[in-house]
Amino acid sequence: MTDIVSILDVPVAGKTILVRADLNVPVVEGVVGDRTRIVRFADTAAELARRGAKVIVISHLGRPNGNDGNLSLRPVAHALTEALGHDVTFISDCVGDVVEHSIQRLQYGRVALLENLRFHAEEEANSRLFALRLCVMGEIYVNDAFSCSHRAHASTHAITEILPSYAGPSLLAEVKALESVLARPERPVGALIGGAKVSSKIAILEQLVKRMDVVIVGGGMANTFLMAQGKNVGSSLCEPNQVLTAAHIINVARQHSCQIVLPSDVTIAREFKGGAAASVTSVEDVPDDSMILDIGPDSIEGLKVTIDGLSTLLWNGPLGAFELEPFDKGTNAVAQHVASRTSAGILTSVAGGGDTAAALNAAGVADQFTYLSTAGGAFLEWLEGRELPGIQALKSSKLKSREA
Ligand code: AMP
Repeated sequence: MTDIVSILDVPVAGKTILVRADLNVPVVEGVVGDRTRIVRFADTAAELARRGAKVIVISHLGRPNGNDGNLSLRPVAHALTEALGHDVTFISDCVGDVVEHSIQRLQYGRVALLENLRFHAEEEANSRLFALRLCVMGEIYVNDAFSCSHRAHASTHAITEILPSYAGPSLLAEVKALESVLARPERPVGALIGGAKVSSKIAILEQLVKRMDVVIVGGGMANTFLMAQGKNVGSSLCEPNQVLTAAHIINVARQHSCQIVLPSDVTIAREFKGGAAASVTSVEDVPDDSMILDIGPDSIEGLKVTIDGLSTLLWNGPLGAFELEPFDKGTNAVAQHVASRTSAGILTSVAGGGDTAAALNAAGVADQFTYLSTAGGAFLEWLEGRELPGIQALKSSKLKSREA
């Protein structure tokens, strides 16, 4: 991270800054749903404006096929206005003469949001020409969108070859949180990996068993590991074609002295639905007609003890079918335990990816984790150990930034 330069370390007064944000939030019929990303980004916009910059915010929203009014960022500009507490000017395109004139008229210390970058196909094509058109009005580029940095798009990649480029504070906070669990964690360090399928997280598991002291496997993917140990998993979600992969991961873990923790008891039901009649059984006795939908009470207590032995925990994926009561118990109980140890200052906890934020929100503890990433794909790719193109681009742009 030290090789990425923060925008907060350079003078910005009197400069026009293009800031790539991730304002890809749920918008239904013009109404903005979850505002977490907007609220987090508002601090960046407010700080740059306070320092006297003209702040030009660029973002995508959804996956439009050309100009699609349903995916306009206009409602997001209203939400950003509310989060900032002062007016955000919305400009109804992101390139062209009208945009340039509007930006010229904007005062320093003010914020403008440009229309959805993906209304132009050149954005996702990482077009240098499109990046040049974006850059016409800006003197400095800032990437504050970690969650978009796994894509080499014009606004995350090509643009860094044109303007002096810096990292925004939200992006840096995300990288710092991830480095605190992966690069130089306080040990013992563990990862709790849950969710549906082993096949979607093979690369992550392979990385983690080499770097963690403990890997807790839960959710549907634990069933495949149990099968690899010769246990019957009844009619559970399971991937028999991944049994060899699970066995391989268990082996790699052994070679790296990483302890893999699997459930000892499970909550089972005959139907995959909320309120289904549930019972608890040992993992040795799952009947053929039942499916494992959560970890059981002994497993919960066991995980609490395991977590008590850790200084750092990374969490990705629920421990059971958390959307359906009563199969949310395992995820909720363990999340509450992690939250209370984090609040007591004895555990650093970093969570993110896919359904994890939803699961921790449902457990009512999301704000008690040390860091909760709002990134999906970028978070998972980082865990896989991949270099994210948008972050890499900021590193290679470093010298240019220092010269500017
Ligand atoms: P992922 O996106 O891989 O993190 O998977 C999250 C999904 O896994 C959630 O929708 C959960 O309902 C589901 N899930 C977790 N545990 C189980 C299980 N034991 N059986 C079926 N689905 C599960």
